[in-house]
Amino acid sequence: MNLITQLDFLDTPQCPVYLGGYKRIIVAFSGGKDSVACVLHLLECGADLNRIELWHHKVDGLDSTLMDWPCTNAYCLAFAHALGVPLYYTWKNGGFEGEMLRENSRTAPISFEAPQPDGSVLIITTGGTGGKESTRLAFPQIAASLSVRWCSGYLKIDNARTALRNQQRFNHSRTLFLCGERAQESPGRARYPRFQVDDSDARTSPGLRRHIDRWRPVHQWSEADVWAIMERWRINPHPSYRLGWSRCSCAGCIFNGADQFATWRLIAPDRFQRLVDYEERFGRTIKRNISLTALADKGTPFPVKDEDVRAALSETWYEPIILPEGQWKLPMGAFAENGGPI
Ligand code: SF4
Repeated sequence: MNLITQLDFLDTPQCPVYLGGYKRIIVAFSGGKDSVACVLHLLECGADLNRIELWHHKVDGLDSTLMDWPCTNAYCLAFAHALGVPLYYTWKNGGFEGEMLRENSRTAPISFEAPQPDGSVLIITTGGTGGKESTRLAFPQIAASLSVRWCSGYLKIDNARTALRNQQRFNHSRTLFLCGERAQESPGRARYPRFQVDDSDARTSPGLRRHIDRWRPVHQWSEADVWAIMERWRINPHPSYRLGWSRCSCAGCIFNGADQFATWRLIAPDRFQRLVDYEERFGRTIKRNISLTALADKGTPFPVKDEDVRAALSETWYEPIILPEGQWKLPMGAFAENGGPI
């Protein structure tokens, strides 16, 4: 049964979705340029700010600091404040490191922030009791399949699904969930539909009537389109782009190339060394055919500026999100070819 109605997806160039039909509009917000573009596009489409919320999945959870950029959580929060929309975090307990170190055990529970009618925000924790006990003790594998590239599924996709399915506020209402995948990024992403019924939808369940659609508003956009909307709104990009990265996600992402790991080793040697130590402990490297140290030796560090390194490695955000007129410029990482999803 096709559950998407003509009214939901009009396929007009400016805003193909009838936004007024949704009580809530959620943006999966990594802090990267594509997720920023999703939010800005919503605003340009005239979406009601009061219906928008951003969700950021903390890849490292609450206590670990292995993979993500130190500034990312604070950057996301500052962006939300600058635009006047709420931001809620989700995380797997123990984060990337905890999941990677799983040994004869089940995957850990997921926690998420849930706004309450009185304005407070509850932290709800669920899961951790089902599934099989198993052992990882290995980095995610570089593959298109999310079953072996487990980080995206276990640390992001499951978080969103869990938070959507376990909040009463999504029952008996219509929610639009946005994510920023673009067809240009990879053949795998090119196959994603622009609009679909979300996995967490339960609109036909009489007791739930949980209507959730997923929209990929920038799916057909070029990278130039994304930078153009950032420039129109003078959004200060995440510091990773200023350091030379073309994608913003984990600083130690398994998809990083030689130049990125050479730069990460230069600016965060302790964090780089922890990845090296794990490769030695597991007896298996991230890239399978080359160690991180050998890979970084083959790369050339980006010509980073001290101020950008400071901003990227700070856990607080102290720069403007919306830059003063005349100060926006394309960051060094824009249009660079340095690794990405499959
Ligand atoms: S950014 Fe890279 S390492 Fe981090 S979750 Fe995504 S694929 Fe995994």
